[in-house]
Amino acid sequence: MNALDFDYNWTLADPCVWQGVGLHGGQPNELKIFPHNQPGLFFLDQQTLIPLTADLVSQTHFCTTLKLSSVSIQTVEHVLAALLGLGISSAVLSLKGTEIPILDGSSAIFARDIMLAGRVALPQRRTIFSPSAGEWGDEQSWLRWQPAKQLMIHYQIDYQGPPPLKQTYIFNWSPENFLKEIAEARTFVYFQEVQKLQRAGLAQGGSRENALVIENAVPAGNWRWPDEPVRHKILDFLGDLALLGSFPKAQIWAYRTGHEAHVTMVKSWLGKTLSGS
Ligand SMILES: [Zn+2]
Repeated sequence: MNALDFDYNWTLADPCVWQGVGLHGGQPNELKIFPHNQPGLFFLDQQTLIPLTADLVSQTHFCTTLKLSSVSIQTVEHVLAALLGLGISSAVLSLKGTEIPILDGSSAIFARDIMLAGRVALPQRRTIFSPSAGEWGDEQSWLRWQPAKQLMIHYQIDYQGPPPLKQTYIFNWSPENFLKEIAEARTFVYFQEVQKLQRAGLAQGGSRENALVIENAVPAGNWRWPDEPVRHKILDFLGDLALLGSFPKAQIWAYRTGHEAHVTMVKSWLGKTLSGS
């Protein structure tokens, strides 16, 4: 067996820890990820290991929130994207607080530290899931998918703005492509939405240090790529796909979707009712 053969489960070689405020709550939190020798991603909740699946999702408004038995955890998508993006399929997450630290608004710091900790292959084969072809949504927002040999996401955003934003990106999953093309893409928000979000009690920890604020000029000087927003949508999608509980092998086309659509799709793949189709 190759040390990092995609057919096998991978875990971290060493634990990782991150501290920082949450994007929405604005409070300090501490996240740890530990290596694990059994297949699957788990959350440690009061001494109990809870498998991370879409069944735990309690809310998808601007971020994905999971409800465990003793606590709800906001904004799980960026760290889960780093795990799926880098092929980690066995790990235990543990959080002091109620929201995953937002760090720089992308998965870059999670991914960098996981790579520094190192990845190791476990003896078991990873569980693969290939969905049968399907679709969800309407002309405003839709998803289509079909089974494939490897995960591919073809994503399109098309926002009115101002300024209008129309971008397309095709991501072929591999840890190398994830690190190079997706991991550094930050959360974005339209400038005119910031106050609205903050009045609604969201984005309390948001700042220009952890979010790309879209104003008049597109792209402005501090963008990491001209198409950083669509790359971040793929990052978010990967985070929600990690809630499948097995490794997805599918081609997916997404148009103007968000966490709700992603989680609905994952639940349908898990055999739950598909609403909104
Ligand atoms: Zn995001």
